[in-house]
Amino acid sequence: MPPSIPESLQQKIEERLRYYEDLGIRLFYRDRVAATPPEQVIPASSGSAPRSSPKPQTASAPPISPVTPVRVAPSGPSLFEEVDRIKNDSLPRILEDLGDCTRCKLHKGRHKLVFGDGSATAKLVFVGEGPGADEDIQGLPFVGRAGKLLTQMIEAMGLQRKDVYICNVVKCRPPENRTPEPDEVETCSPYLLRQIDAINPNVIVCLGAVAAKTLLQTTRGISQYRGEWQEWRGRKLMATYHPAYLLRNPPAKADVWKDLQKVMAELGLALPKKKPAQ
Ligand code: URA
Repeated sequence: MPPSIPESLQQKIEERLRYYEDLGIRLFYRDRVAATPPEQVIPASSGSAPRSSPKPQTASAPPISPVTPVRVAPSGPSLFEEVDRIKNDSLPRILEDLGDCTRCKLHKGRHKLVFGDGSATAKLVFVGEGPGADEDIQGLPFVGRAGKLLTQMIEAMGLQRKDVYICNVVKCRPPENRTPEPDEVETCSPYLLRQIDAINPNVIVCLGAVAAKTLLQTTRGISQYRGEWQEWRGRKLMATYHPAYLLRNPPAKADVWKDLQKVMAELGLALPKKKPAQ
C-alpha cells in the first residue's frame, strides 16, 4: 500500500497537475522506485487525446538558446536607447519621483498608483500592460484573475513572486481596462525603463502586445516574434502572451509554457520534476 498523504497536500498536487495539464503538459512520470516501471508513462487524464505529443520532460535544463538574430526594433537609436541611465538609480527613488503623479489623464480615475512588486535585485522581470480593477484597489500588480494565473506560471517555473519583479507599462488603471493610449505610454514608460535599469535583470518577459510594442518600439503584432529572444538594451527579452489572453484562450497556455521554458533555460533553472498522476 502506498503511504497516504495529507489531504491538503493531495489537493495542492491535484491543482498543480491540473495547471500543467492546462499548459499542455499531459505526461507524468513516477519519479520514485515503485511498482510502475520507470519507462511507463502515465497519462494525466485519460480519455481525451493529447493536444500535442510532448516529449518526456527531464529535470535537467535544456541547453541555453542563442539570441534569435531577429531585430524587431527599428534600426537606429530607439526612444529608449537615447534615454540616459541614471547613476545609482533605485526603486525607492523612482517611486519618489513619480510621487502623487498627475502627468497623464489616467491619474483622474485611479485609486492607487501601481508601481511594481517583487525583488529589487530580480534576475527576471515581468512587464504587463496596466493595472486592472483589483490592482487599482490594492496598489499591487497582477493580483486579479490574470494575476493568479501569472502567479501559477511563476510557480510552475520553480519560482515565487518574491523572486521576480512584476510591473506594468502604465502605473494607473485605464478606464474600463482599455488599452493605454500612446500619450499615456509615452509619459509613463520612462519610469518603467528606470525600474528595469535599477533592477538590472538578465531577462525581461513582456506579457502581451502593449509591453512588447512599448519596449521593442515596434508596431509588429506580437505573434510574429513571440517566443523568440530579442536583445534589449544589453539584456534578453522574451515576448509572450498576456495571462488575460490565456484566460480567454486556454490552448495558448502551451505556447506560453514553451516560452517560459526558454526563459528557465536562460536563467539556469531546472525544468520542474514531474510528479506521478495518481
Ligand atoms: N493586467 C496587467 O497588464 N497588469 C496588471 O497588473 C493586471 C492585469
